[in-house]
Amino acid sequence: MKKILNYINGEHVSANSKKWIDNYNPSIGSVYSLIPDSDESDLDNAQISAQKAFVEWSKSSLQYRSSIILKIASLIEENLDEFALAESEDNGKPVSLAKKIDIPRAASNMAFFATAILHDSSDSHQMNQIAINYTLRKPIGVVGCISPWNLPLYLFTWKIAPALAAGNTVVAKPSEITPMTAYLFSKICKEAGLPPGVLNIVHGYGPKVGAAMIKHPLIKAISFTGGTNTGKEIAKVAAPMFKKLSLELGGKNPNIIFADCDLEKAVSTSVLSSFSNQGQICLCGSRIFVERSIYANFKEKFLEKVKSLTIGDPLKPENKIGALVSLDHMKKVLGYIDIAKQEGGEVIAGGEQFKPTGRCEKGYFVKPTVIEGLPYDCRTNQEEIFGPVVTLMPFDKEEEVLKYANSTVYGLSSTVWTSDLNKAHRMAENLEAGIVWINCWLVRDLRTPFGGMKKSGVGREGGYYALNFFTETTNVCVSID
Ligand code: NDP
Repeated sequence: MKKILNYINGEHVSANSKKWIDNYNPSIGSVYSLIPDSDESDLDNAQISAQKAFVEWSKSSLQYRSSIILKIASLIEENLDEFALAESEDNGKPVSLAKKIDIPRAASNMAFFATAILHDSSDSHQMNQIAINYTLRKPIGVVGCISPWNLPLYLFTWKIAPALAAGNTVVAKPSEITPMTAYLFSKICKEAGLPPGVLNIVHGYGPKVGAAMIKHPLIKAISFTGGTNTGKEIAKVAAPMFKKLSLELGGKNPNIIFADCDLEKAVSTSVLSSFSNQGQICLCGSRIFVERSIYANFKEKFLEKVKSLTIGDPLKPENKIGALVSLDHMKKVLGYIDIAKQEGGEVIAGGEQFKPTGRCEKGYFVKPTVIEGLPYDCRTNQEEIFGPVVTLMPFDKEEEVLKYANSTVYGLSSTVWTSDLNKAHRMAENLEAGIVWINCWLVRDLRTPFGGMKKSGVGREGGYYALNFFTETTNVCVSID
């Protein structure tokens, strides 16, 4: 059986324990590869190699770092088919989606930060006749990056690229549920000539090797994307150690449809924002609020499109919906559909497991599910389900929908559909969300601040926000008296 290996000091190695974790292909429901069950000792080795590599990497020229990271980006592009297939097998997502979104975005992440450092500048503050201040931004040292399973290579590179470009060396841990593309990535890093130790990838369980990373005294910053509860555990350990901490956490995003919107566009984009990647995107709009005067019309058009979504074998190009990432996750999502029913919700589409015939008969599929008739403050509408489940709710007034939208503990993203520019700006100002999309969804400019407020996270990624996070700042004040 295929074995994934750790990448430490430029070498591919198994875990010191010589133990392995089963890695499932969720679309067929069986084990297809093995992952190193790493522990603190592997993490220590990774940290030591990163510390050694930091001496030269942090002092290397921007052009040198940029050229190597750009080479990694082009190798991802050259191997697009292999990466997309691996992502689909590991995660259950349609291979067509991985080929169109996940893998190209991973390459863009690398290329974006490789070139961003060539155009970066720092501040200067003059005090007339007295002094001039200039700001130095220096790499931090060894930093830790931990990523989740929903967009595996996409989010893994979103952290690693700015960390490396800013001159840090990295110890990274992908989710143990989807480690394959991080392993393939480590091979191309080697091929691209990334010096040994600059990037180290340690595979294994979050509470074991991930936790070892968080408490390691010489890993000075942690960039984490994952669930809110995990983020809380990480903060408990890292905050008293005064580590720099970036937390990108869960969401329960509202998708608000006003009667004056372009209905066709709102409906077709809402299908995508509800069910892309089986609803397993932190930015999916899982609560759909529709102005009452168009509720019936929206519902009819939306359901027609949802019911026509093809579900099944993610390797078949005609399938738009693949498998959920794991058996446990499928059970969690189905459990929430039961909760919704207990809360009085009516399932108007889906609502159950989908059982394909043939190759994928044991896979973890759930039909795209739409539920109506629930109040805004019930569990179904307050807790993150992170699956192909959305609720439809009518509203009458702008202030009312704002109250509903802002009622959760989360504040990641929101979508607003309206042709009234003033209303759009008012909503954007009053929504408690780090990202507001007006008449679109998931349109991403990598220079913009990305992240959430409330329990959706701390800090922002993207562009200079990420480069700032991965650097320490020194103000130098020079007297000109
Ligand atoms: P988890 O929080 O379970 O895991 C995220 C990562 O943390 C994994 O690599 C996991 O490892 C690791 N981990 C788990 N426990 C610990 C620990 N104690 N110490 C250190 N690391 C640990 O999230 P999921 O992987 O289930 O991802 C889904 C969540 O991610 C959702 O809540 C979603 O909203 C959120 N998310 C947020 C995004 C954002 O930008 N705000 C983007 C994408 C997802 P392992 O898997 O091996 O246990």
